[in-house]
Amino acid sequence: MSSIFDLTYDELESILVSNNFKKFNATQVFEGVYKKRVSSFSSISNISKELKSFLSSNYSLDYLEVITALRSDDTNKYLLQVQSDAVECVLMKHDYANSLCISTQVGCNMGCAFCESGRLKKQRNLSVSEIVLQVLTIERLENIRIQNIVIMGIGEPFDNYECLVKALDILTSPKGVMIGSRHITVSTCGIVPKIYDFANLDTQVNLAISLHAPNDELRSKLMPINRVYKIKDVMDALQYYIEKTNRRVTIEYILLDGVNDSDECAMELVNLIRGKLMYVNLIPYNSTSHSEFKRCSKEKINHFYQILSRYVGVGVRREMGKDIKGACGQLRASHNGNE
Ligand code: SAH
Repeated sequence: MSSIFDLTYDELESILVSNNFKKFNATQVFEGVYKKRVSSFSSISNISKELKSFLSSNYSLDYLEVITALRSDDTNKYLLQVQSDAVECVLMKHDYANSLCISTQVGCNMGCAFCESGRLKKQRNLSVSEIVLQVLTIERLENIRIQNIVIMGIGEPFDNYECLVKALDILTSPKGVMIGSRHITVSTCGIVPKIYDFANLDTQVNLAISLHAPNDELRSKLMPINRVYKIKDVMDALQYYIEKTNRRVTIEYILLDGVNDSDECAMELVNLIRGKLMYVNLIPYNSTSHSEFKRCSKEKINHFYQILSRYVGVGVRREMGKDIKGACGQLRASHNGNE
């Protein structure tokens, strides 16, 4: 049986119509599932017995099982069961809103040198429902609403592009979960053709790019994807996205001690993005048990920040969840030992 959460509104509508139900039934079902959050199709009011039985014999309404939940003041980390695998997501509780960082794959093939998640190779893509249900499951578990989503958990979202786009469609649909597109950010390591596709979607969903180095020599050492798509190709694609959407792009830059934190690096970075609708997010590096890299001191981070701030928009990412290993790059797709 497939999950109802795999279907976009348009898909549901065409399935219903081709089974001799009415177009407007799609709205009733979508609202029951996503607004009222019914736990059985029979609880959707105003739909016929025939439709209820069609839905219950073809679709499941199951949420994900929560394997573990680690809670701290401002951050919770969850391990969720997805079929025979497990996947992590992180809830960040701000004063003004809740943000959820979600995953798109079990493991990751991008092989970035500094990243813990990629130590487990990609086992598989998450399905549309497994992406969407991370949000619904945490909302139900904690009895909260999530206002912001960052797609920065485990996996490379643009390596699971079709499911990503459908999941975004469902999460932003006014008939469904209705999270504002501008409150969602997708982070990619820079799969250039998909940046163009994403720009052509004409969505208001934000784009962040993990740059982490200002020249090809260094970036190729840190991020194997750079051997395929060079910085210039990435920058051209981002410019295209900006022209299409008029949205500001976030450039993520992890500061690695003695690796990419020199004054020269700062100026090279400035030259790449100066005058463009881009903003730099400096990320203090979170060391992990197997890491050869070190975090920069506060002074160094501040020094790098000061240079950039003379020329471009820049901020330092607020750190959350370090105490529960829920910080950037600390997520693991597997809970089977090897920690
Ligand atoms: N694959 C996507 C999204 C997942 S990673 C991407 O590459 O953007 C989310 C962000 O966390 C990326 O910018 C990634 O480079 C960063 N990250 C990975 N390991 C980290 C670590 N140990 N400390 C801080 N940030 C890290």
